[in-house]
Amino acid sequence: MIVDRLGRRFRNLRVSLTAACNYACTYCVPDGKRLLKARNELDASELYEAVKLLKQATGIDKLRITGGEPLVTPKFDDFLMGVMSLGLQDVSLTTNGQLLPRKHDVIVQSGIRRINVSLDTLDPQNFRTIARSGDLATVLGGIDALLDAGIRVKVNMVPLRSQNADDIVPMLDYCLERGIELRYIELMRMGHLLNGQGFQTDFISMESLLDRISEKYEFTRTDAPYDSTAVRFQIPGKGVFGIIANESEPFCRSCTRLRLSSDGYIYGCLSSSRRQFIGDLIHEPSHIALPRLQNILVGALADKKLAFQGEVTVMKLIGG
Ligand code: SAM
Repeated sequence: MIVDRLGRRFRNLRVSLTAACNYACTYCVPDGKRLLKARNELDASELYEAVKLLKQATGIDKLRITGGEPLVTPKFDDFLMGVMSLGLQDVSLTTNGQLLPRKHDVIVQSGIRRINVSLDTLDPQNFRTIARSGDLATVLGGIDALLDAGIRVKVNMVPLRSQNADDIVPMLDYCLERGIELRYIELMRMGHLLNGQGFQTDFISMESLLDRISEKYEFTRTDAPYDSTAVRFQIPGKGVFGIIANESEPFCRSCTRLRLSSDGYIYGCLSSSRRQFIGDLIHEPSHIALPRLQNILVGALADKKLAFQGEVTVMKLIGG
């Protein structure tokens, strides 16, 4: 097993099925143009073979399907069914939820137990201002249908000072009422936010979030798994919420994540654009592919930073 001097190893794999997205969220895409798929994306079976190889080489036992928007690609059904058969401890999905009604049946049939839905506001107009697309009611309906099917849902919200700060508490109310764990994601300095003014304008820290929440709820900090990205809080008798505090309390020192992009590159760190192509290894016999992959993974692990420093590559390319 490959382990670094902080005891970090790869345990969680995030696979970006496609770089394409049906939204163009203000904090992800500067020019408002919806995102296209990457050139030379691997197909569903190639991505599946890459996952199998990475599992063999690293002992990865958790996998999250992400993107881009994973539900927009025809690869989704086959890839989901494939990875569900790999005997991983945990398979989950991150989606903006817009296509949940269309994909509901395949999701339920696959047996997947956990889904994160990204949702930044409960106001229909504000929703379209931030996502520059989509329909709020469709997403809310999709979430209800997942809950009815017994699937555990978490909601991801990126609080933005100029766009949805007034939604911070209402979003928590909505989630607590439904037994959903809300995850506030501190805005990350990625893509156009790395050097522009937008980050300073919109960033809301964990401390400010907690101040707002404390005006309505009492809470205490609660346990989170060792390699969790979130700091978690319990509201007695009501539920739990979390904050992914990239800036306020970075989780880099216990990060176990490895990312596979839709065009076959692996990334050891979200805060580094260093990447290695592994798309060719899936065509090699395993006695050749595995040693080469081990070498690549040693390099990817060395790319892990001690704190999030920002990255010029946008999240959708690396896989959020
Ligand atoms: N399309 C899917 C979705 O919306 O969940 C998956 C990909 S998206 C890149 C994954 C998550 O990254 C979303 O929750 C999104 O809000 C978040 N995200 C994108 N850019 C971000 C940024 N600069 N800072 C914080 N979160 C960001």
